Amino acid sequence: MDKSNKLSIVIPCYNEEQNIESLVRRVLDSPIENKEIIVVEDCSTDDTRRILEEKIKPLVSKIVYHEKNMGKGAALRTGFSEATGDVVIIQDADHEYDPNEYPRIVNPIFNGEYQVVYGSRFLNRKRKGYLANRMANRFLTGLSNMFTHQKLTDMETCYKAFKREIIQSVDLVENRFGFEPEITSKISKMKIKIHEVPISYNPRTNEEGKKIGFKDGLRAIYVIWKYR
Ligand code: UDP
Ligand code: MG
Repeated sequence: MDKSNKLSIVIPCYNEEQNIESLVRRVLDSPIENKEIIVVEDCSTDDTRRILEEKIKPLVSKIVYHEKNMGKGAALRTGFSEATGDVVIIQDADHEYDPNEYPRIVNPIFNGEYQVVYGSRFLNRKRKGYLANRMANRFLTGLSNMFTHQKLTDMETCYKAFKREIIQSVDLVENRFGFEPEITSKISKMKIKIHEVPISYNPRTNEEGKKIGFKDGLRAIYVIWKYR
């Protein structure tokens, strides 16, 4: 593979004082040589901002601060607009996903085989995470597939990677977790096939800071229909 291929890693970050430093270090250690890390601080109320200023700033390419809490979708929009790599991947600021798996997800895009790749937690893998979350995801993925004609097993995955020009050309509006069905619909409308590769998953609990909830599931149904 061409060594000059550059990966932009966009990290949306809200109240992640427990995770952000160790997460950024894991991303730095990930097996992609040429990378830029863009952290979007979504107006945290805990110590996240101080940790970013004191410890993370010298380690990453860019930190962008939101003036008020806007949600994951809005944080991603901010991050995407700053990206300069050939490929852009989303990295949540917790430890549910493993940065060591980047090559498997992004190489098919670097190679020109695909333009969009999702890492699936359910492709050839054991089930993990809350049963309710899994059932909701299964339902939402199925519903999304009906409208998009994709054959996804995990529409709600965090690990979504895009050719930079593609993600920067999509007009995104969902501020919160509606981002996942929205981007899936809009990519599908561009007649792009989304490729899935299996990834591992280490789910965190609500007590550990998981923020997605029932209302986000309802919103997802609406979003799937809205952007169909
Ligand atoms: N996040 C954010 N703004 C918010 C809520 C969440 O930037 O208002 C970030 C959060 O810090 C994490 C990512 O979005 O990096 C996904 O959040 P979470 O892990 O709670 O959701 P889930 O894993 O359930 O999708
Ligand atoms: Mg998470």
